[in-house]
Amino acid sequence: MQHVMMNHRPLASYACHSDQNRGRRFPQPPAPTRSEFQRDRDRIVHSTAFRRLVYKTQVFLNHEGDLFRTRLTHSLEVAQLGRSIARSLALNEDLVEAICLAHDLGHTPFGHAGQDALNECMKDCGGFEHNLQSLRVVDTLEERYPEYDGINLTFETREGILKHCSRRNAELIEQREPHGVGERFLRGWQPSLEAQLCNLADEIAYNAHDVDDGVRSGLISMEQLCSVPLFERYRLQALAAHPQLQEEFGQRRLLNETIRRMLSDQVYDVINATSRAISRLAPGNVDDVRHAPALVQFSAEMRAESLALKQFLFRELYRHAQVMETMALAQRVIRELFAIYLQNPSEMPPAQAAQALAGDAFKRARVVADFIAGMTDRYAGREHERLTGSRLLNA
Ligand code: MG
Repeated sequence: MQHVMMNHRPLASYACHSDQNRGRRFPQPPAPTRSEFQRDRDRIVHSTAFRRLVYKTQVFLNHEGDLFRTRLTHSLEVAQLGRSIARSLALNEDLVEAICLAHDLGHTPFGHAGQDALNECMKDCGGFEHNLQSLRVVDTLEERYPEYDGINLTFETREGILKHCSRRNAELIEQREPHGVGERFLRGWQPSLEAQLCNLADEIAYNAHDVDDGVRSGLISMEQLCSVPLFERYRLQALAAHPQLQEEFGQRRLLNETIRRMLSDQVYDVINATSRAISRLAPGNVDDVRHAPALVQFSAEMRAESLALKQFLFRELYRHAQVMETMALAQRVIRELFAIYLQNPSEMPPAQAAQALAGDAFKRARVVADFIAGMTDRYAGREHERLTGSRLLNA
């Protein structure tokens, strides 16, 4: 019974148990050596969309520096944090890992700027939203199996991937798949604790690594970060424990040690606050979890401090003039690619061209959006240069 024993601790009754999963869209016999969620994780790691994450922007464009996070390294950090919290809470680590590794599969090139541009291009044709696109990747766009589209993941992994969803989109999903992954958005239910955990692990990961990448890039400074309580507390702790980090040569290690302490404390905070919430509510199983308020959480103090850090990063890094300038160019790349492919579908590879030409205007726009969303940063930059003759980004 490998799947109920983790770290010598049985899985909690309110965790998702692999042998009680709600099934795959195309039923399959169990794998001989792996739990159903391990199998999901393996399918995700072997997907084409997963490999593309290495060349997709997190905050900085992939070519701006070799050490900045990309969507792939971000996803790995989210999975690491998620697994370690899951283990302490006796939740299903394999499911957490699967959801974390898949959570950003639907991201366009050039990060949120790319998504916003594509959403604008698609505004009359159903819009574009990266969470929904992540689900679309695993349900429809991956072409790996002879019998069906997508990679046929379990309900629980798909539920976790669809982190947000508009009411309109939830209704569409519910029509296709009654009592499926859209239902909770219509009824105000929560997803599993494993899915809730991935959302928080995502936030912890990007706050920490964006501080790191932000300082590394020179766009934000340690001095500025001193105004952020969550950062400053651990910086002072690190200096008290290691006074030599005060020196000029110690700055890199000081930053790393500060972030390491900040990450550890946030992890402990989530474990403690969530354990308290679970004890108060005492859910007996995953259905109780789905009908309860969200249980995976920071303490109120950590929530406020995390929010202050997020606001700092928004103001000083994500809205930094240099980032905005690059992102404006990236949005132009997306808009112009969209217009060209829509006008002239045969500029896309033959399979996409054929699909686009076979459908109505609505379908054609979706084929173009799927094609663009799947691009890496550099492929988008090169395609744009091929089609327009102008090089906007040094990809
Ligand atoms: Mg993410």
